[in-house]
Amino acid sequence: MGIQLKVALSYIAIIVAMLILLNIYPVLVSQNFIFRSKQDTMQDKATQYSRLLSTLDAVDRASVEKMMNILDDRGGYRVIITDDNLVAVYDNSYTENVTNKLILLQEIRVAMEGNDVFIVSHAEDRIISRAASPITIEGRVSGTVYLYESDMELAALLSDIQKNLSTIAFFISIGVIALSLILSRFMMRRISSLLSSIRKVREGDYTHKAKIKGRDEIAEIASEFNALTDRFERVENVRRQFVSDASHELKTPLASIKILADSITQTENMPPELVREFVEDIGEEINRLTRLAEKLLSVTRLDSDTSSELRPVDVKEVVMRCTQMLRRLASIEEIDIVPELSDDCLIDANEDDVYQIVFNLIENAVKYNVRGGRVHVFLFEKEEMVNLIVDDTGVGIPKADLERIYERFYRVDKARSREAGGSGLGLAIVRNAVIRLNGTIETESEQGKGTRIMLKFPISGGLIRDAGRLE
Ligand code: ADP
Repeated sequence: MGIQLKVALSYIAIIVAMLILLNIYPVLVSQNFIFRSKQDTMQDKATQYSRLLSTLDAVDRASVEKMMNILDDRGGYRVIITDDNLVAVYDNSYTENVTNKLILLQEIRVAMEGNDVFIVSHAEDRIISRAASPITIEGRVSGTVYLYESDMELAALLSDIQKNLSTIAFFISIGVIALSLILSRFMMRRISSLLSSIRKVREGDYTHKAKIKGRDEIAEIASEFNALTDRFERVENVRRQFVSDASHELKTPLASIKILADSITQTENMPPELVREFVEDIGEEINRLTRLAEKLLSVTRLDSDTSSELRPVDVKEVVMRCTQMLRRLASIEEIDIVPELSDDCLIDANEDDVYQIVFNLIENAVKYNVRGGRVHVFLFEKEEMVNLIVDDTGVGIPKADLERIYERFYRVDKARSREAGGSGLGLAIVRNAVIRLNGTIETESEQGKGTRIMLKFPISGGLIRDAGRLE
């Protein structure tokens, strides 16, 4: 069953229940009221007669008739009076007179047992009421008074009320059904529109937006859905860019290898020294490919892996290891690496992350430096934060590029980066690792003067956590 039908049916069910109640309740109340007033007046009359008749010596036709003629007022009731043998001694009806006949009515029998009786019923077009009372002479039930009335006027009034209520209910029902169909249709239209938007996006059209006006929950779902789609779109763009950049990066060394390999196979009588040189070049390109593959793995692993366990890592020890590794590269350009490291700078981390951060930053400070330049590495603790600063006297980074250097594959000077064996992934790896370690990163740079990269991490066992998280 569709939502539209469900909504419409629930509206209709509620209204129908209300209408039934509205139809039945007023009629029941009025009927009850009529019955009660009948009981009051009729029973009064019956007891009034029975009291008067109780003053007689005996319930016989002559004395009863005499008494009744004196009373004269019958209140519009048919009055039958029986003796103790249930034989009618008096009946005021001319048309169906039952005088002298045995009356075997249940009410009369009950009255003979000394009880007052009143019975009322609502038949099709009339209200029939009956009352009976015992006539007690000298402590003995000697006869009964029986009153009977058939009221068509009040019955007609009741059925009028019923009819009017039914007509009103009928028109209200028609109105409600129409309104609930319109309302549920309106709601359905919005849900269908949302549904078709979801389908479009599912089929890959991330630029599609659900257009739903209003301030209700459906509009809210639509706006949440649009935000989700935006996110999808961004993730998809980043993924596409990454795949295209990565394959581009892989293509260059592969093309070189192909050219070198073709040259060797297609050149006849190539001097062995040249062959050797070409093969060495192929080896170089393979090294570059290996480095690139490692970095690609690293950048994607850091994207997704957030589960590895953190333990206290001594940053000083990692910095010293990296410095050692990079000294040879630095000595080629006569660059001096100067570490100024404090002890006890422990952070909760995965050692590999710390190594990636420190190695990439110092490597960059060396790669983008000038001959005879200097790289300063500071490590100290301040206000429960471990501070790591890598400062160089290198080429610097233009202001416009400063924002973007942490993006994957972003390089300021492509030629220089490539020459230095760079891939544009180093700082992206750094950034991801810093995020994982709840750290912050700041960059200052002046072209021609140098670059300073400052990192802060919560100290292991410290009170400050998640300070200034990167997004
Ligand atoms: P790469 O593999 O090219 O070094 P990175 O992501 O490590 O990639 O760095 C991105 C770019 O930022 C580099 O290509 C370089 O242009 C610039 N850069 C990074 N560090 C420095 C630095 N210390 N001095 C000058 N430029 C830098």
